[in-house]
Amino acid sequence: MGDRAHQQRMARKKAVIDEAIARADRDKGLLVVLTGNGKGKSSSAFGMVARSLGYGYKVGVAQFLKSRRDTGEEGFLGRQTLVQWHVLGDGFTWDTQDKDADIASAQRGWQVAQSMLSDTSLHLVVLDELTYLINYGYLDAEQVRADLLARPATQHVVVTGRAAPRMLLDLADTVSEIQDIKHAFRSGIRAQAGIDL
Ligand code: ATP
Ligand code: MG
Repeated sequence: MGDRAHQQRMARKKAVIDEAIARADRDKGLLVVLTGNGKGKSSSAFGMVARSLGYGYKVGVAQFLKSRRDTGEEGFLGRQTLVQWHVLGDGFTWDTQDKDADIASAQRGWQVAQSMLSDTSLHLVVLDELTYLINYGYLDAEQVRADLLARPATQHVVVTGRAAPRMLLDLADTVSEIQDIKHAFRSGIRAQAGIDL
């Protein structure tokens, strides 16, 4: 392609992009759903926490289904004054092996989530690994939907977890599915600090 043809093509492309940018002129508290089997859901959510903190916004994080307190994200982000950090799980179901306890813990956890979803001072709320609690029926999907809908109009929410249920996909403004193409774990490499936890 000649220089001139390339220049014309790029100019047309720029006009289309500029028009799309001009059309997107509203602000809104978003529901972002990060799902799929590949690595990168929670770390992307924590990336948005860091971005929000960069503007001085307050952030709330709820980590469901997690019992360990020694993760890098909690060690750094959980210590920031603008962040409230809740670890709500008693571990994965295959660790606890006690369904009633898991349900009770999920419901206690959701009460904490509800308090963040009604806190107008929070710019962003991360509900990490929430999908499992809905999929297992530990939380009532309708209740979760109602609480998400009732949140402050400018509050952003990021939900992570595999197999996001239909209800979340329908309610979300942005959905990304992270595909698992390769993962080091399958080559016998354990979870490593700073990358996996
Ligand atoms: P990350 O926290 O690294 O962004 P994630 O939130 O996308 O991962 P989870 O399903 O929450 O993925 O799993 C968390 C842990 O499991 C991390 O240590 C991650 O590296 C690992 N993991 C994620 N996806 C896979 C996979 N496809 N196979 C094996 N291990 C995985
Ligand atoms: Mg995760």
